[in-house]
Amino acid sequence: MIRNDHSIEGKAILVAEGDESSYREINSILLASGYKNILWARDGGQLLEILRGFYSQLGELGLIILNHKLPNCEVQNICQSINRFDENSRIPVIITLESKADLELPIIPSECKNNAIELISKPINKSEMDSLVHLCLLLKRERDIRREHEESLIDELSERKVMEARLKYLISHDELTGLANHRSLEKSLELSIHHCRNFNRCGALLYLDLDNFNVINDIEGHETGDRLLVSVVKQIRKELDKNQHIARIGADEFCILLEGVNQKQAMDLAELLRIRVDEQHFVTGDKSYHVSASVGIAMLERSEAISRPSEIISHAHQACYVAKSQGRNKIHLFDKRDTATHKLRDDVHWVPVIREALSLNRFVLYFQPIVRLSDGEVSHYEVLLRMKGEGGTLIGPDQFIPVAERMGLIHNLDMWVIENAIDFLAGLPETDSKTSLAINLSTYAFQDVAILPLIKQKLETTWVSASRLTFEITETAAINNFDKTRELVARIRALGCHFALDDFGAGFSSFNYVKNFPVDYLKIDGQFIQNLVSDETDQVLVKAMIDIAKNLGKKTIAEYVENIETAALLKDFGIDYIQGYLLGKPSSEILESGSHQIKEMINQIPGTEPLFVD
Ligand code: C2E
Ligand code: CA
Ligand code: CA
Repeated sequence: MIRNDHSIEGKAILVAEGDESSYREINSILLASGYKNILWARDGGQLLEILRGFYSQLGELGLIILNHKLPNCEVQNICQSINRFDENSRIPVIITLESKADLELPIIPSECKNNAIELISKPINKSEMDSLVHLCLLLKRERDIRREHEESLIDELSERKVMEARLKYLISHDELTGLANHRSLEKSLELSIHHCRNFNRCGALLYLDLDNFNVINDIEGHETGDRLLVSVVKQIRKELDKNQHIARIGADEFCILLEGVNQKQAMDLAELLRIRVDEQHFVTGDKSYHVSASVGIAMLERSEAISRPSEIISHAHQACYVAKSQGRNKIHLFDKRDTATHKLRDDVHWVPVIREALSLNRFVLYFQPIVRLSDGEVSHYEVLLRMKGEGGTLIGPDQFIPVAERMGLIHNLDMWVIENAIDFLAGLPETDSKTSLAINLSTYAFQDVAILPLIKQKLETTWVSASRLTFEITETAAINNFDKTRELVARIRALGCHFALDDFGAGFSSFNYVKNFPVDYLKIDGQFIQNLVSDETDQVLVKAMIDIAKNLGKKTIAEYVENIETAALLKDFGIDYIQGYLLGKPSSEILESGSHQIKEMINQIPGTEPLFVD
């Protein structure tokens, strides 16, 4: 195949081969691929002489193809002397072996392991040689570009400018050189897969995703976000070998390719990187943010039968997802059983159980108070679903709601909850006529047009006032099909119902969405609240969320309030409502009207004017 890439075709290729017919064979493969600048060294002496000629212009020599039995030559010495060249500009080497059996020989000195030294055995396979040559030349070009960039950086810049230039460098680098972007990662992975399959030299891919980057980026702006990325990358790089390939493949997602490591080494490095990121405190202005990362690990092993780069990237990504869902700031090794098999077994088991629970009325509603701080009144109760299991046990929604979503049963659950929650209100005595409820709706609720008529009809037949209902929807639900969802929300609001944006801050949306989305309450995600007292980053974020909500004219609710100290901080930040174990766990009954238990609790928050308790 002739390649139309002059920047690599033009480079010299040095073939060091004692046997003339072997040289001719290699030469004809190279010529057929369009390479013209081919040099021949018959022994070690000629090789050194040619190399010396290139000392001052390392960029011009693209590749050495070296027979490991070249007369008058120690292959190991050649590798070592190339290793001593400028580390950014090292010349790749393809070593030709006389037979497959030679693959077992310890040919590459350990300090040169990461220098792009490739092995190929005779008889030479044309297409294997062709693709190795191409990949090596690409690598050489990338190294040269990187060296040029770094040289100009070092020359040019003072302390502050270095930062800006590094930023530009980082951004252009992704696109310009192909070194650190997705495509380049795939190329390197191709080579690794080749190594793994043919030479049993395997490795691992780490997928590192920053936790909460979006929130910081939103609050502080993109420039600060970029600076944060640069400083994280700097930390990561410190721990990596110069030749361990790191690529930025998303806004805050990085892949790190490790060659020649076993599972333990890969996991150790992943854990080290996690710790390094976790140790960082990113300071901007007078604020300091704590950053953390979740890391997924996928092994590249012969037994894995991985044939495409995208497969291993996807495995590492899935592992990272598991790490995130286990609470973030964690590492996780990819395991086939994690996702596909586990889920499937679970789903198959759950479907009939959910159907039966619906038909036999085995679901129950629990209620958890949400309290207005200004007067200590229960503003409303969040409705939380439970399923009755064997022998009176209760099953939590985390067990069956995700399955119901995947298996298309969630509409039935959403409908069941709406109907039963309204019935519950209708059945309350006159003294509770002000009690209101917040109902969770699934991400998919608005894909069903039946939801609006159901709410309308149910409110009409029960005479329950629409103002006693709030619907909690998540950011994902709001963003999916933004316009349609917004319209449906507006129509349900027109009936008199309220809306809350649940799990706020946990997802990916920006404050822009909130601005344009008709909700009355923002419910700050519990993960920001649970450790509020000890985590300064959470404090900064929560305060910013409250301020922004205020500016947008929306009320704020904090969930997962578990102690007085948290409540006091939130009050200080200006939160409107709190919910959590401090005030009451979810229960099958609402509080008795006239009960003062909550007001007494609110009275204990420092700085509270004593509320009236009779
Ligand atoms: P969510 O809407 O974020 O609900 C809050 C969860 O936090 C509830 O868990 C609640 O029991 C728990 N919680 C409240 N206060 C505290 C606290 O102080 N500390 C701690 N550690 N946890 C607290 P639950 O009931 O297990 O619900 C889990 C999720 O299941 C809910 O998250 C919601 O997404 C979903 N869900 C619950 N009921 C329904 C429902 O009726 N329909 C739909 N579609 N989803 C529901
Ligand atoms: Ca909720
Ligand atoms: Ca929530």
